[in-house]
Amino acid sequence: MQVTHAELVTSAVSPNQYPQDEIIEIALAGRSNVGKSSFINKMINRKGLARTSGQPGKTQTLNFYNINHQFRFVDVPGYGYARVAKTQRASWGKMIEKYLSQRENLQLVFLLMDFRHPPTELDIAMKEFVEELDIPYGIILTKSDKIKKSQWTRHLSLFKKDLDLPSVDALFPFSAESGEGSDLIWEIISDMIEA
Ligand code: GDP
Repeated sequence: MQVTHAELVTSAVSPNQYPQDEIIEIALAGRSNVGKSSFINKMINRKGLARTSGQPGKTQTLNFYNINHQFRFVDVPGYGYARVAKTQRASWGKMIEKYLSQRENLQLVFLLMDFRHPPTELDIAMKEFVEELDIPYGIILTKSDKIKKSQWTRHLSLFKKDLDLPSVDALFPFSAESGEGSDLIWEIISDMIEA
C-alpha cells in the first residue's frame, strides 16, 4: 500500500473520546520500548509522526492515526513499565482492556514483542487476553535486524512454544531499520481492508 496520508487524529483515554465513525481499526500493543512508534513510522514512511519514546511509558493515551482515510492504527499505551505506580498501571490496563474488548471498529490486533528476548509474562498475558477476544491477531517480532538470520529459527520456535501457538504462521519478524517484514504486514492489512 502506498501511504499518501497519515495523521494523528486524536488521543483518547475513554470511549467518548474515540472517533465516532465506522473506519476499521488495527490496534498495536506492546510493552514500552518494544519499537511501536518505530513500527508505525516505518510502515507509513514518516520519520516523526509517532513519537519514539526516549522515555519509556510516556504514551499514556490511545493514539488514533488515520492512514489514507482507509483505516486507523491505534497505538495502545505500552504495558508493564515498572517505574510507573501500580495504581496508574491498573488504570492503563483497564483503558487497554476496555478498548480491545468493546470497540466495534477493531478488526485486527498486532502484538509487538522484541524478537531478541523470550516473551515476558506480560507479553504472554496479552496474547492470552487477545486470543479470547475472537479478533484476528498477529505477533510482530521487532528489531529483527539485531538477530542473525542463522538464529531466526531458534527464536521463532521459542516464541511458538512460550506463547503456546499452533504454528509460527502468526509470527512476523520486523525491522524498522531495514523495513524487513513490512511488505508482508502490508499484505495482511490490505487483505483485511478489502475483505
Ligand atoms: P516504543 O516505546 O515501543 O514506541 O519504542 P520505540 O519505537 O521508541 O523504540 C525503542 C528503541 O528501540 C529506540 O531506541 C529505537 O530506535 C529502537 N528500535 C525500534 N525498532 C527498532 C528496529 O527495528 N531495529 C533496531 N535496531 N532498533 C529499533
